Amino acid sequence: MKILYVSSEVVPFAKTGGLADVAGALPLALKKFGHDVRVATPKYLMTDDEKFGLKSILNEIKVHFQFVTHYTKILSANFPGTDIPVYFVQYNPYFGREGLYTETGSDYPDNAQRFALFCIATLWMLRALEWNPDIIHCNDWQTALIPAHLKHHPDLRFDEFYNRIKVLYTIHNLAYQGRFDHDTLEKIGLGWEVFTIDGMEYYSDINLMKAGIVFSDEITTVSETYAKEIQTPEFGCGLDGVLRCRADHLTGIMNGIDYNVWNPAVDELIPGKFSPQRMAGKTKCKKALQEKNHLPQRADVPLIGMISRMADQKGFDLIAQIAPQLFSMDIQFILLGTGETRYHEMFEKIGKDYPEKAGINVTFDNRLAHEIEAGADMFLMPSRFEPCGLNQLYSLKYGTVPIVRKTGGLADSIIDATPETIANGTGTGFVFEEYTPEALLGAIRRALESYQKNIPWKKIQANGMTQDYSWGSSAKKYETLYQKMLGG
Ligand code: ADP
Repeated sequence: MKILYVSSEVVPFAKTGGLADVAGALPLALKKFGHDVRVATPKYLMTDDEKFGLKSILNEIKVHFQFVTHYTKILSANFPGTDIPVYFVQYNPYFGREGLYTETGSDYPDNAQRFALFCIATLWMLRALEWNPDIIHCNDWQTALIPAHLKHHPDLRFDEFYNRIKVLYTIHNLAYQGRFDHDTLEKIGLGWEVFTIDGMEYYSDINLMKAGIVFSDEITTVSETYAKEIQTPEFGCGLDGVLRCRADHLTGIMNGIDYNVWNPAVDELIPGKFSPQRMAGKTKCKKALQEKNHLPQRADVPLIGMISRMADQKGFDLIAQIAPQLFSMDIQFILLGTGETRYHEMFEKIGKDYPEKAGINVTFDNRLAHEIEAGADMFLMPSRFEPCGLNQLYSLKYGTVPIVRKTGGLADSIIDATPETIANGTGTGFVFEEYTPEALLGAIRRALESYQKNIPWKKIQANGMTQDYSWGSSAKKYETLYQKMLGG
């Protein structure tokens, strides 16, 4: 099969969240099955052309919107260590900026035009390369205009080169929909025929996420529980009805993780390597992490880690409510995250109030993310909703016991540790259901109690470290779905 994987962020070239990790790993897993897999993504300022050896392969792909012609370029490099081509759409007025989607907390006002240009240039690029994929796999609203244009662009819909292509659309987070004023429609090259209730109209605006859902052949999302949740008003973010209409074409496939990158036995970014049989390296990592965060270097104190975009989704309001009780206990807490200013302020205050207990890092730092996974004893994810979540999967591998709310991918991947589940090898973390401060505190207390009882704790760690969330089985599910889409 020929598969084009399209994503607005791809590790190691550019990243703001989990989507980039997925886009940096799934294509490699699919390639192992023998498919011709290629990737398309924008060329951002943060993409290091020299380091990755980006070369220009197409000097002029023209994109017309309204009466303006934009001249884009296509650069290319292989994924490091592979022969998988990655195509970068270069258009500096749109992508040569500090941020990917936002700057100083606000969305770029021309995001619709930016990503429409990316989508159209990607489609024109295929013809210029004379490579027409069987499948285009799109991800989130930034790429949703690909199925919209394939079905409705006057130059594409009747063109044989394009109209045999099937589109799979993956929802990584339904909360980010790409909603814009309806006047934007003409600026992104679409006609008014898509502005209907069955199309991409949404309360008099246009909604790119909705376009992805209604115009693609199949839809997936990143865990089985989230696939069910998003069909309910509580989690559907206003699109639950649209998703219920397409329920026969909606599947949940759990993300995998890349154990070449997130694996304490081979991780070059942490001060001590370790594995279930040889855990001494984890003690070293904890000490180094405490030192880096100016916290007392005590081996016995339970260290709770958290790495997260600072958004409402992630449960920070619960943490604010339990902070006095949490920090009255003998614990340490290390946070890494960026996002909404009010959460920056909240955590900076916590850092000042509890300097002996809290290490607060309001920044984006990949090395520190690895160090926290390796050095912490527990990992906190009290999310209001969580489509898949990757950090709890990394935590399992690093023997850092997750404390999670039972939602989305967290519900699918973490089994509450009880005497029975610990003994039968399935108990891997501490799970709470109600989105309340009491329930969160209850789960933390249970984790701390267990931590004091060294033996069951070691068993919970070992249970987690031996789970297998590698990409192989998830990639197989995508392969089966692609084959079904092609009538196989
Ligand atoms: P989401 O995609 O909703 O942000 P995920 O758990 O799926 O959440 O993935 C988040 C990814 O981003 C993980 O790889 C995590 O380590 C990383 N990450 C989040 N915030 C930071 C940060 N401040 N510094 C470094 N890595 C971060």
